[in-house]
Amino acid sequence: MYDVAIIGCGITGAAAAYELSRYQLNTVVLEKENDVCDATTKANSAIIHAGYDPLPGTLMAKLNVEGAALAKELCHSLDVPYKQIGSLVLAFSESEQNTLHTLYERGVQNSVPGIRLLSAEEVRAMEPAVSEQVTGALYAPSAGVVSPWEYGIALAETAVRNGVELKRSSEVRSIKRIENGWRISTAKGDVEAKYIINAAGLNSAAVHNMAAEPKFHIEPVKGEYYLLDKSEGSRVSHIIFQCPNEDGKGVLVSPTVHGNLIVGPNAQHVEDYTDVSNTAQGLQFVKQAAVRSVPSIVFRDNIRNFAGLRATSEKDDFIIEIAAPGFVDLAGIKSPGLSAAPAIAKYAVELLRKEGLVTVNKSCWNGSRKKVRFASLSPEKKNELIRQNPAYGRIICRCETITEGEILDALHSPIPPCSLDGVKRRAGNGMGRCQGGFCGPRVLDIMAREYRVTPEEILQDVDGSYILVGETKQGGNADV
Ligand SMILES: Cc1cc2nc3c(=O)[nH]c(=O)nc-3n(C[C@H](O)[C@H](O)[C@H](O)COP(=O)(O)OP(=O)(O)OC[C@H]3O[C@@H](n4cnc5c(N)ncnc54)[C@H](O)[C@@H]3O)c2cc1C
Repeated sequence: MYDVAIIGCGITGAAAAYELSRYQLNTVVLEKENDVCDATTKANSAIIHAGYDPLPGTLMAKLNVEGAALAKELCHSLDVPYKQIGSLVLAFSESEQNTLHTLYERGVQNSVPGIRLLSAEEVRAMEPAVSEQVTGALYAPSAGVVSPWEYGIALAETAVRNGVELKRSSEVRSIKRIENGWRISTAKGDVEAKYIINAAGLNSAAVHNMAAEPKFHIEPVKGEYYLLDKSEGSRVSHIIFQCPNEDGKGVLVSPTVHGNLIVGPNAQHVEDYTDVSNTAQGLQFVKQAAVRSVPSIVFRDNIRNFAGLRATSEKDDFIIEIAAPGFVDLAGIKSPGLSAAPAIAKYAVELLRKEGLVTVNKSCWNGSRKKVRFASLSPEKKNELIRQNPAYGRIICRCETITEGEILDALHSPIPPCSLDGVKRRAGNGMGRCQGGFCGPRVLDIMAREYRVTPEEILQDVDGSYILVGETKQGGNADV
């Protein structure tokens, strides 16, 4: 019997696994998909919010501010791309100036470090590309941008390296109370655990209902984005928000941590929990809203559109509570869930301690991680690395300068990717202007070689998403 079973491995489950990996516990993570962080955690604005937006006194406010501070330390020790570039909320009218004051007051109450109100002149001095119509802004220097999937993968990998077991393609289908704990039936067999952490994102209400009386609903709210080429990446140097409204934080314009420009999202209630399609109306709305803040964005340099689904509940807060004996819900983790994740994890472990979980530190825990990022090395370091391992001298992704050595590092990492997209999320290939058109087939060959499988067995992303269906010519004939 495991001590703790975590259901779902997005950023919330991954942070919980990382936190529990510190202790002498038998922990298992059960993930529906064939990879970690393949749902909401991979498709969002990628902002570590400062924490002036949530209402004072809510869990969201407390865990956002704590989580943002922890994220900065964690990204450093886990070698995850993170930049603290600060955020600006723009006002365009007298009433929006009042909103800025409200947000400022909330920020002070929430203990957000360094926030201040700026005049229109101060805003334009900091951000020359913002609209002439701007009347002022709220500046929050502690906000940052992060690579969300790398953050989640790094937390999960480090947990696994420290002894946590991860079971992928293991959707939880039912949960039963047994003596001293729970029996969890998954797509790959039964698991027993004394304690459960429900971190199933959009499915967190369904998982709650397997163990307790129904208490809340989760409704998916879709947000659509443009991701622009690096040519637009320095259009602004801060995260540019508009005043929040009933649908959330509104449309932002921001540099990404990889040097692109991200623009979005809208907020569209949808029925389907898997609907991450882009729509003409959604994208048009995003474009029109974004040029209100930054009129000069060159949208023809768009390289990709994508969409993510917020797990929205009827409560204007996260739902983090004991649902049944030894069973904690981490549900309704909408924005700022990415920012709050490490603080949510600590809070969840605290709740389980009150339920009887005994946590004794491991003597050999190592919470850090290092990665080769070839493109960012000095010429001397690159030469040295290539001398040690010539695979770092073969460029596979020309847009992002990702080497075969980095692809191999990803393939042999603690949570080896099962798909081309899984390699992309770890090594960073295919993220550039050609979006994998050049490197995709080469990565597929490397995967087949390293995993000793045929190319037809390689997946694009989720289980069943085969890329190749067969040969167009029967090859191998020298006189063809
Ligand atoms: C458009 C948008 C913009 C956002 N922007 C930001 C932002 O800028 N900053 C910020 O802080 N937050 C932001 N968020 C919120 C943030 O992305 C989420 O709070 C966070 O990713 C939620 O992580 P999670 O682990 O709870 O959920 P998920 O990432 O969805 O993970 C849940 C996991 O559970 C698995 N699962 C589901 N059902 C089962 C089952 N039955 N058995 C086993 N596994 C299961 C899923 O496969 C998935 O891997 C945004 C969200 C959206 C949609």
